[in-house]
Amino acid sequence: MDFTLNDEQKMIQRTVRDFVKKELMPYEQEVLKNEREGRPGMNAEDIKRIRQKAKDLGFWGINTPEEYGGADLGPVMTALISIELGRTFVPFNFGGSADNILYYCNEDQEQRYLIPVINGERRSCFALSEPSAGSDAGNIKMTAVKKGSEWVLNGEKIFITNGNEADFAMVFAVTDKEKGARGGVTCFLVDRDMGWRSEYIHTMGEWGPASLVFEDVHVPEENILGEIGGGFNLGMQWIGQGRWLIPARAIGASERLLQMGIDHAKTRVTFGKPIADRQAIQWMIADSGVEIEATKWLVMRAAWLQEKGQDNRHAASMAKLYGSNMANRVVDRVLQIHGGMGYTKELPIERWYREMRLWRIFEGTDEIQRFIIARNLIRGNVKVGELLD
Ligand SMILES: Cc1cc2nc3c(=O)[nH]c(=O)nc-3n(C[C@H](O)[C@H](O)[C@H](O)COP(=O)(O)OP(=O)(O)OC[C@H]3O[C@@H](n4cnc5c(N)ncnc54)[C@H](O)[C@@H]3O)c2cc1C
Repeated sequence: MDFTLNDEQKMIQRTVRDFVKKELMPYEQEVLKNEREGRPGMNAEDIKRIRQKAKDLGFWGINTPEEYGGADLGPVMTALISIELGRTFVPFNFGGSADNILYYCNEDQEQRYLIPVINGERRSCFALSEPSAGSDAGNIKMTAVKKGSEWVLNGEKIFITNGNEADFAMVFAVTDKEKGARGGVTCFLVDRDMGWRSEYIHTMGEWGPASLVFEDVHVPEENILGEIGGGFNLGMQWIGQGRWLIPARAIGASERLLQMGIDHAKTRVTFGKPIADRQAIQWMIADSGVEIEATKWLVMRAAWLQEKGQDNRHAASMAKLYGSNMANRVVDRVLQIHGGMGYTKELPIERWYREMRLWRIFEGTDEIQRFIIARNLIRGNVKVGELLD
């Protein structure tokens, strides 16, 4: 088995690592300060300027098909890039990409939604979760009732990332109650000016999701994304795309944190010796190193299976479950190694601590990943001890 990256992969990995170090990490103190004072970490102008620099290096639309001007680098390369971007908490992405399900847009919708999102002219949000349906997403209650050539939407969505900023939402609503989730749920592209409103939800992290309220929002028939009744499958496709990207980010962040822990342990002297000399601290460092490495291979295999066009759902669930828990353990240990300083807002550890807690909840909680993994094993969809393909 050959784990070697090819020359192109190595070059891209190195370039992104340098970019993160040179262009993003210098903003870290400013991001911490802004967030402490209740402002967004980065201002729009800075993001635009850095994105342009990245674009000049060829980093724009890394997953976007070439026909839309993207680089279409594929899952393995995307995993490697996500690991590098994870090394900083500066909120940044290269831009030039769109939600995977927007590629189901028809020609007219492409012009109004997909292409403006790729070009950064419009912002989307993915609105599936409801107050009474999170993990149990098939139990959504929002209704869409047909009246003439329009559908009338009523209901509430909750915890919608970008829900305050987006100018349109991909909204999932029940169009045929009898058919249940598969067949009875449809996805609508709903512009904010069609009448929905959003309310900010305060969380322990720096993410400010929103609740979205729909009261008799009229949506034209031509704004259905995909097929009537095909919404649930689209929703699952959207959620599935992020499953191995979250732990990819977790690897970069955890490696950075572990290095901070090691550096601190080597210089912090107690009772006449650096704490790095103490076995209690060494074990925290050792366990973190092993768990990061394990996550790396779970993530890379999930990405590689996808690159080969194989079903990677089981592998992605394992990577998400293990990787997001790994990150939470690593940040906790690194905070412990820093003692009181780890708990302050002078250092980014507590910020990462708050952010990483979310990774065990969204895009499928720990319990839902375990449920998926166990179901596959119990039903024999994945066989224990199966030979590597
Ligand atoms: C910051 C943030 C951003 C988000 N962004 C989005 C977004 O952009 N779009 C969107 O649609 N949603 C979004 N979500 C919602 C997110 O996907 C849900 O919060 C998540 O799926 C869990 O659903 P829930 O909160 O309703 O918890 P519940 O489903 O009520 O679960 C509560 C607890 O019970 C456990 N549980 C549930 N069912 C079972 C079971 N059968 N067996 C064992 N344990 C179970 C869960 O794992 C959890 O621990 C976001 C959430 C947050 C916090």
